[in-house]
Amino acid sequence: MRPFTTTVFAEMSALAARTGAVNLGQGFPDTDGPASLLCGAVDAVLGGRNQYPPGPGVPELRTAVAEHQQRFWDLDVSPEDVLVTTGATEAIAAVVMALTGPGDEVVVLEPYYDSYAAVIALAGAQRRTVPLRAPDFRLTEEALRAAFSERTRLVLLNTPHNPTGTVLSRAELELVARLAVEHDAVVLCDEVYEHLVFTGAEHVPLASLPGMAERTLVTSSAGKTFSVTGWKVGWLHGPTELVAAARAVKQFLTYVSAGPFQPAVAAALALPEEVFTGFSADLERKRDLLSEGLRAAGLAVNRCDGTYFVTADTTPLGCTDATELAWRMPELVGVAAIPVQVFCDDPAAAPTLLRFAFCKRDDVLHAAVERLAALGPRLAA
Ligand SMILES: *Cc1c(COP(=O)(O)O)cnc(C)c1O
Repeated sequence: MRPFTTTVFAEMSALAARTGAVNLGQGFPDTDGPASLLCGAVDAVLGGRNQYPPGPGVPELRTAVAEHQQRFWDLDVSPEDVLVTTGATEAIAAVVMALTGPGDEVVVLEPYYDSYAAVIALAGAQRRTVPLRAPDFRLTEEALRAAFSERTRLVLLNTPHNPTGTVLSRAELELVARLAVEHDAVVLCDEVYEHLVFTGAEHVPLASLPGMAERTLVTSSAGKTFSVTGWKVGWLHGPTELVAAARAVKQFLTYVSAGPFQPAVAAALALPEEVFTGFSADLERKRDLLSEGLRAAGLAVNRCDGTYFVTADTTPLGCTDATELAWRMPELVGVAAIPVQVFCDDPAAAPTLLRFAFCKRDDVLHAAVERLAALGPRLAA
């Protein structure tokens, strides 16, 4: 695990704090989720739900996840096949450890979420990357086919995609489905941004494609949907035997998860649709606010159809190394961002791209935009 000892997110957040920079690095909201959700957790704590909950999760949350999947995505899920986890992070770790080992390959989109590489290494398996490249970050059949082999055991798919903001289209998902069937691979779909999709894009769950429910595991979490990233309430569902395999691992990772938060999340999943759409509409407005500011500062902003994040190219500012720039930016202009290169194996994948989080209060985004206006002139000086 030596290559994984530090994370750029923690280091960049520490640098931002030290320099008083506006932190658009780590993707956590700076306002809390619905009041009813917060009160639900308080009630559960004061109501005595503070001991080990059942291993697979409390019944009301497993039922609420199944009902949510039916209501929003028309997926038929039995509460028996829902496993509550410590965030989506634990669901991913449990699945990778349960299903893969030395000699197995796991296909991931690149750039990839940082925990994917770490848990694939923990399992002793190999990752095979499929490039999504700026400015459109589309998935091509050629790239996908090149990553599959007779050793492919698992595809770790993420849509809407962090860090690119890409939402995979139905046609792209059909490619994944075809190759997964051809190679008899299981797909784990990381859909933590399922509700954070903007005008013109549509989230399509892979599990809804013909023949895919039997080989698709789905994970999501309350953190991103309800702006409570610190709660770490996630879930996994899919075919009975695959969920059972993940449950066997989960038992010895954490045993059980987040007792009093579970009933609170169960109630929130049943909130009216306007709560979900209202949040994504607000985020879309924030995306536009930040994107406009980045453009005004001279960066080339890439398309973003969902998530908390937008990427921008620093080449127009004369920059050739966004990683070096990212470490200088907090001092230089007082804004922190994450270089996209840290999510990639290929050293030439995204040398000049930065990822900015826009899940922040408007005044914070305005301050960032104002500061970023000085970036071009300071770099030229
Ligand atoms: C935030 C995030 C996660 C982790 O979710 P938790 O519920 O906080 O564990 C997993 N995958 C992606 C792509 C994320 O951005």
